[in-house]
Amino acid sequence: MAARTLRIGLIPGDGIGKEVIPAGRRILEALPASLGLKFEFVHLKAGWETFEEQGVALPDETVSILKSDCDGALFGAVSSPTTAVKGYSSPIVALRKRLDLYANVRPVKTVVSAPKPIDMVIVRENTEDLYVKEETTRDTPDGKVAEAIKRISQRASSRIAAMAGEIALRRQKIRAAGSPSIHGRPLVTITHKSNVLSQTDGLFRSTAREALAAPRFGDVAVEEQIVDSMVYKLFRQPEAYDVIVAPNLYGDILSDGAAALVGSLGLVPSANVGEGFAIGEPCHGSAPDIQGQGIANPIATLRSAALMLEFLNEEAAAAKIYAAVDSNLEEGRLLSPDLGGSAKTEEVVQDILRRL
Ligand code: ATP
Ligand code: MG
Repeated sequence: MAARTLRIGLIPGDGIGKEVIPAGRRILEALPASLGLKFEFVHLKAGWETFEEQGVALPDETVSILKSDCDGALFGAVSSPTTAVKGYSSPIVALRKRLDLYANVRPVKTVVSAPKPIDMVIVRENTEDLYVKEETTRDTPDGKVAEAIKRISQRASSRIAAMAGEIALRRQKIRAAGSPSIHGRPLVTITHKSNVLSQTDGLFRSTAREALAAPRFGDVAVEEQIVDSMVYKLFRQPEAYDVIVAPNLYGDILSDGAAALVGSLGLVPSANVGEGFAIGEPCHGSAPDIQGQGIANPIATLRSAALMLEFLNEEAAAAKIYAAVDSNLEEGRLLSPDLGGSAKTEEVVQDILRRL
């Protein structure tokens, strides 16, 4: 079998991004040769340090190399100034726009043997809803009134729901490849508030239903849930969820809420996904409080590398990484301080590489 070569952009960014992205690179390089995968890495700049050096947080060169020369990327974290700085804006937000990464995908998972095991993924639409940021303020005799546009389109709702369906099917394959899970069959839960917002959320709901009724999703069970009761159930009975698909704002809130269920930000990966391109990104930030100590938990990044591979259609490779991480966590002997252990980043990485 001819090896497939994937070119991956590495954007460490700031703070612990610099400590965890190398771990992501190492796990990709350590994948068994039998998978027929080779990697080439391109080092790219973005973030606060880059802004201080070059006056831009996201150099054009980074974007053009990602576009023309890379199959995917790993993004660490960037520090943002606490007060607005002229000319600075978040490079990851800009990247999502410039590469049309229309979905934000966030898996939230505990080990299977946890007292309350969880294994869900939240698929958040990333281009519209209230985030079109069309806000106005006007004066009235009773004082100011501010309004915001909530835009929902059939096109964006349909493609995000189809992506949720594909993810549900792929998770089933990864389970079959030996990554243990609490779920037996694929399920997509559509989240909305169409009882109140009958036009906008109503369109999201009906479009998502229609997209998921396609024959290729025949094995996927589809249910829907109003977002407020979803939050309640997410905290009471998180094991009930497999794949959740949501418009931008609900997805934003649900994904942070869900991440709180698993104990450490250092465990939670994400991916920013567009047509044929994915950027893996740990959910945590640059964590200045622990930077430079060699104790950052690398697992969010290792899982982000696996998630990126899923979107490059390399499920078998992704499943290997997930299983190695799960096995490290199940054994619980070499854990970083955020999980109550005393292992250094390097020791955790070595333990997981050994299990690969
Ligand atoms: P930023 O402004 O870049 O988001 P932050 O100060 O908000 O930085 P976060 O990275 O969001 O920091 O992290 C919040 C808390 O979680 C911090 O106390 C940090 O030490 C901890 N934390 C985050 N990521 C990790 C990790 N990978 N390993 C260990 N602890 C982490
Ligand atoms: Mg933060």
